[in-house]
Amino acid sequence: LKSPYAGGHLEVIVGPMFSGKSEELIRRVTRAVIARQRVAVFKPALDDRYHATQVASHAGRSIEAVAVPDVQAIRAQLSGEGQLLSAEPEGVDVVGIDEAQFFGPQLIPLVLELAERGVRVILAGLDMDFRAEPFGPVPELLARAESVEKLTAICTVCGAPATRSQRLIAGQPARFDDPVVLVGAQESYEARCRIHHDIGV
Ligand code: ADP
Repeated sequence: LKSPYAGGHLEVIVGPMFSGKSEELIRRVTRAVIARQRVAVFKPALDDRYHATQVASHAGRSIEAVAVPDVQAIRAQLSGEGQLLSAEPEGVDVVGIDEAQFFGPQLIPLVLELAERGVRVILAGLDMDFRAEPFGPVPELLARAESVEKLTAICTVCGAPATRSQRLIAGQPARFDDPVVLVGAQESYEARCRIHHDIGV
């Protein structure tokens, strides 16, 4: 075996906003780099082009990453088609993906394929959306992972462990059926516990 991870596996880090998911992804990736493993980190791009960027935590640490418009672009990067990552597929030991909830269902077969090929895959993302509903491909990825870490933030109302992300529009709790993208509205998010999470009806 070339490493303890030679069989490949899937690790998923979830929790609400501000729970330290990016921090934990950065910690694990940094250790892999210290161990001289070849690492590629991806996150969703806000536009339709890929570019070099960083995964940054709210506390200020960051690592190099590639922003990609979709799952197909992760595939292309890993097979050496892109200019940002020249690694051959068999040349990457660890693949990290932040904000996994924003990728479509195609993320699932990709990460399973990578794990099958011997890659250590580390995903970080929101397990629930602002309505506390399971978010995108994350629920199935939790089911298929070898390892799951569920982090909590601090509830901004009472200081208890927070498991949910409160969406606020102009300071008021967003309603269940408020559109996910609101043009011109002042939006913010806070970490909340179950009691103080409000999906204003
Ligand atoms: P995530 O990726 O889960 O959004 P980050 O790793 O980016 O989280 O940021 C976690 C950091 O956010 C914490 O270490 C802390 O410094 C800061 N933070 C800000 N608000 C809160 C909160 N309500 N609860 C916990 N940490 C918070």
